[in-house]
Amino acid sequence: MPKIKIGVVGCCGRMGRALLREIIAEEGCQLAGGTERGGHDCLGQDLGAVVGLEPAGINVTDDPDALIQGADAILDFTTAAATALHAGLAARYGACLIAGTTGLTPDQENEIAQAARKTAIVRAANMSVGVNILLQLTRQVSALLGEDFDIEIVEMHHRDKADAPSGTALALGEAAAEGRNIDFKTAAIRGRDGLTGPRLPGKIGLAALRGGNVAGDHTVIFAGSDERIELTHKAGDRAIFARGALRAALWATDKPPGLYSFADVLGFTNT
Ligand code: NAD
Repeated sequence: MPKIKIGVVGCCGRMGRALLREIIAEEGCQLAGGTERGGHDCLGQDLGAVVGLEPAGINVTDDPDALIQGADAILDFTTAAATALHAGLAARYGACLIAGTTGLTPDQENEIAQAARKTAIVRAANMSVGVNILLQLTRQVSALLGEDFDIEIVEMHHRDKADAPSGTALALGEAAAEGRNIDFKTAAIRGRDGLTGPRLPGKIGLAALRGGNVAGDHTVIFAGSDERIELTHKAGDRAIFARGALRAALWATDKPPGLYSFADVLGFTNT
């Protein structure tokens, strides 16, 4: 059976490097190449050397057209603008796209949805199996508990993270809102400061902490009178997201065009 050709855009970023390591180690796939933004220090370097491994015989380029044209699947953990661009190219060349970038605007999300009419795109704010179980649990616990339990979501990430709250915290908020059958956008309170007054019932609070090299911690708190349920996931290493992205790529290559979630990849039902 021919190996699945997988390319990494943004291959010299934190996630890009973790993805390169996973692809090189995986028997069933072949590294198709890697790109970086124009002017990046890594351009021209060997992809194996970028992650301290044996030379892979392929150099980092700034040509996403050539990479996406020659690949079966593309892994994209870059920036919101770059991911929207890559989605258009994936649609043009029929490569499937695994898009993990967070912080996309509604217009950029729409560009992804348009591209997904022509190719399979897996879109997930968090590609760890554990976090996707946390999403399911959050939806279920939220449905079981009434509005007398206040929902608060706390996340912590490394000091360089560009967006807040994290895409995963927002996905957890959506899951909690779904469980209660309410609209997350109107229920969300993003951070508090100053004279905020008492907490309103039915709201979902989000708080973001930043520091160190934390790969990603998320806790969903259900606070009632005299009792509290806390659901926590802690990512020890970003390899968990890379492994999930690779699993999604191997899953997506024979799927028809469409916008898929990581729950689809894992075969979870939305209950
Ligand atoms: P990073 O800044 O370390 O890496 C991003 C890389 O993309 C950089 O090397 C940058 O030069 C490159 N890049 C930017 N524009 C580009 C372009 N046009 N073409 C090619 N490369 C380009 O960031 P990171 O920590 O690796 O995170 C990247 C994104 O992935 C963020 O949005 C983050 O929130 C998200 N993320 C998602 C998950 C998940 O499971 N879905 C997990 C971790 C991080």
